[in-house]
Amino acid sequence: MSYIARSTRRSFLGSTLASLLLSQTGLLVPRTARSEVGGQSTPPDGPLDRHYGAKRVLILGAGLSGLAAGHELAQAGHDVTILEGQRRPGGRVLTLRQPFSDGLYVEAGAGRIPPNHAWTLTYARRFGLSTEPFSPASLTPLLNIGGKSIPVTPGTDLRQYLDFSPEEKRIGISGMLQKYVIDPAQEVAAAGDMTAPDWPPASLRQFDQGTFADFIRSRGASAAAVQFLQLGAYPMEASALFILRVLATTDFKNLTKIKGGNELLPAAIAARLAGRIAYGARVVRIEQDAKSVRAIFTQNGLQQSLQSDAIICTIPFSILKTIEIHPRFTSLKHQAMDQLRYAPVVKVALQTKSRYWQQQGLSGFAEMDHSAEIWSPGWDRPGRSGILQLYQEGERALQLDQMSEDARLMYAADFVGRVFPGLQADRERGVSFSWQHNEWARGAYSELRPGQVFAFSPVLASREGRIHFAGEHTSAEPGWMQGALASGYRAAKEVNEIVTYTA
Ligand SMILES: Cc1cc2nc3c(=O)[nH]c(=O)nc-3n(C[C@H](O)[C@H](O)[C@H](O)COP(=O)(O)OP(=O)(O)OC[C@H]3O[C@@H](n4cnc5c(N)ncnc54)[C@H](O)[C@@H]3O)c2cc1C
Repeated sequence: MSYIARSTRRSFLGSTLASLLLSQTGLLVPRTARSEVGGQSTPPDGPLDRHYGAKRVLILGAGLSGLAAGHELAQAGHDVTILEGQRRPGGRVLTLRQPFSDGLYVEAGAGRIPPNHAWTLTYARRFGLSTEPFSPASLTPLLNIGGKSIPVTPGTDLRQYLDFSPEEKRIGISGMLQKYVIDPAQEVAAAGDMTAPDWPPASLRQFDQGTFADFIRSRGASAAAVQFLQLGAYPMEASALFILRVLATTDFKNLTKIKGGNELLPAAIAARLAGRIAYGARVVRIEQDAKSVRAIFTQNGLQQSLQSDAIICTIPFSILKTIEIHPRFTSLKHQAMDQLRYAPVVKVALQTKSRYWQQQGLSGFAEMDHSAEIWSPGWDRPGRSGILQLYQEGERALQLDQMSEDARLMYAADFVGRVFPGLQADRERGVSFSWQHNEWARGAYSELRPGQVFAFSPVLASREGRIHFAGEHTSAEPGWMQGALASGYRAAKEVNEIVTYTA
């Protein structure tokens, strides 16, 4: 997930002017991209050390977490099979190349990589991929608040545009950031290792009692400050503690993307696992007893079963809750599976004949209120044509779900065209993608609501007999590729280190 950061931000907390300022002032020092594996900041070199016999391991899902787990276990000499329901690897990393021309493409899922996401960057490098800037540094991004566009330049004084309280006007944006964001994020970071299985410590309970908006209101934030700090595709309903953990661990400066499309990362790992991935294999039941564990799946219309010593389940809880489990997991695990929310997101991309906004010095990136932002994928491609992409989260994403494809494209053209006038005359073709309608995800990324960081953190990743869990939702960096990769490694390490499973 992402969040308060510059004109490019991460997956869910928007990159706002706030993030820009945060990164410029360097007031919030990212804790590093630790991982889930004993606080390591990068994937260790070399394969896992296998001290015991090889195990037969089934991995459910070929998203980044399943692929990382499969890669690490295969390298250590285990017998790995991955069952993937779709006919492609990558899950929520999905690069759309159609219906665009001129080599343009957009990311329906994961878009940007923070510079401290060493797990994502290291895996990319190990698989021969390089990265490039996510957005143009030399062009101006916009904030759009209440329908009014504000260019974000070093001289922008937001106090002219927003009805901040007298105290907020006095302390200015950097004072507000210090008070509402940096101080509490540092308090969260200082309270203990956020990747430890027993996180969060009791001292942080106060931060899990409401949303981030509730929390900053309780510290005196005006309605204008609340609005400002939630610009972008922002998860309004998440717990303040969930948000503050993101803030404390993410560096929003100099975001990048994988050259050629983010899907090249899962594609490259999957290619290394060729022959070990069964595509079109939909898992419908998981069962275990004292001796083994089985996945029952349908493939080409036939129901089949595979038995193994261990399973690593990476299926998002939004789907796992619909799968038969026998015997049932612990009741808290089922409660977490049933209640974990996945943020609603719809992205709509519109190809244009020219990048007319660049001629006005604008980057094509904007952070808006109502959980929306606009990106300009292809800003760096050769040729004249471009793309403006609406990234809509929250209530309005659910409204977009009710519309036909044509109506969504028209809505986006009107909405985005108000921020970058001239779009109606310049647009050519487009496509939308709803993560709620995607039968393999049913939502974009996990987000813990107030009370849930404390209630569910202990069980998201916990093993159930021979069944281990990985996936962004089980990680300390949920909603990011980084969280998925690190969780896959962590689960592979768990399996590798177990001598025997006891009932
Ligand atoms: C809109 C959006 C924006 C994002 N932005 C960013 C970003 O900017 N930067 C970033 O780093 N990350 C971002 N992310 C997050 C990132 O994409 C995810 O954290 C990561 O890809 C999740 O990987 P995973 O392996 O946990 O899950 P998935 O990728 O969902 O993998 C799970 C796999 O399980 C399969 N599956 C599901 N059900 C079954 C079944 N019954 N049987 C068999 N297989 C099944 C699915 O097909 C899928 O392949 C974004 C995600 C979205 C959706």
